Amino acid sequence: MGNRTARVAIAFIMMISIRCFLCPAHVKQYFREVSREAAWSDSAFYGRQFTMRFPLTGAFQLIHHASTAEAGAVRTMRYTPRSPDAARVWQQAVRNELFEHLRLAELVQSRESIPFEARVTKTEKRDGFVLKDIQLRSTRGRLITVALAEPGRIEHALPAVVCVHGHGGNRFTPFDPGAREYKLCGTKLVRNGFVVIWADIGQHEVYEKGRALMGERLWDLMRCVSYLETLPAVDAKRIGCAGLSFGGEMAMWLAAMDERIEATVSAGFLTLMDQMEQNHCMCWKFDGLRQLVDFPDIYSLVAPRPLQCQNGLKEDSTQFTVPLARKAMEQIHVIYRDFGVVQNAVLEVHDGGHEIALEPLLTFLSERLAK
Ligand SMILES: [Zn+2]
Repeated sequence: MGNRTARVAIAFIMMISIRCFLCPAHVKQYFREVSREAAWSDSAFYGRQFTMRFPLTGAFQLIHHASTAEAGAVRTMRYTPRSPDAARVWQQAVRNELFEHLRLAELVQSRESIPFEARVTKTEKRDGFVLKDIQLRSTRGRLITVALAEPGRIEHALPAVVCVHGHGGNRFTPFDPGAREYKLCGTKLVRNGFVVIWADIGQHEVYEKGRALMGERLWDLMRCVSYLETLPAVDAKRIGCAGLSFGGEMAMWLAAMDERIEATVSAGFLTLMDQMEQNHCMCWKFDGLRQLVDFPDIYSLVAPRPLQCQNGLKEDSTQFTVPLARKAMEQIHVIYRDFGVVQNAVLEVHDGGHEIALEPLLTFLSERLAK
């Protein structure tokens, strides 16, 4: 490299660095990240993209983060108004693209050929229902354990719900009175006549070589849907999903990418990606995502199927606030309007904080998954 080229390259790098450090938002974010380091010590959060153990490393990570966040926010496949037929073409094109980025394309095509080899490893009778641990084959090389709750007496095929826990939760959380923000939603759903299935998808490392974290999480939920379809107790045409926080995010992904989901409740999550860049575990993000879409576009893949998003008025002001949720829902309504069913996507604003609003969830799923 000649002297002149080297000088130009160095000047360019310095220019970018100075610009990032002079941007008040990025400087503020840098200090917020450094000061919050201790608060993020939970092992569940080690997967985040810029763990700042040392100020200098953090500074370089910040530059990288700032430039990729800006460069990545292109949203080339943003939904714009069109005819219902063209909207379906758009949905399929976005799904195909996202399956590639999630490294799931080949698994989705071969899903019928992977046997479940289901094995009940534990059965527990509770008041009015039976809770089982079941080991299933998720991919040819990987087993998972799911929790399945069925009402004590089943006289005809029932609707079913794939429930999804948030950060730090697990497959028992919806049946745990101590997990107050979940309002015992698993127990309540099964007592209201639903079969409930729940998997552990809180991992922050990739299990299988060549896969992606978000792809593996989504795939395990899709396997839950496929497994429900095999159960005589379940009406395969009436399968819904629901989740809180990270679970609300995964409920969005499941409903968006798997058209077998008939009705969806996504609680404590509706927001925009710019907000998620600010103060969250970054496990939601993967290469290529921001270039393609923002969250309202992913929710738009759920249309015209029923969708309820829940956001609480007491959410922290830096998190999933109601004004942000309203802004996102306006964008989601564009495709529902094109399908002529704008009433199918609702924002349920409740008085609580980062939690499930149980009654609206039960009412919505009971109505939308009724025979
Ligand atoms: Zn995470």
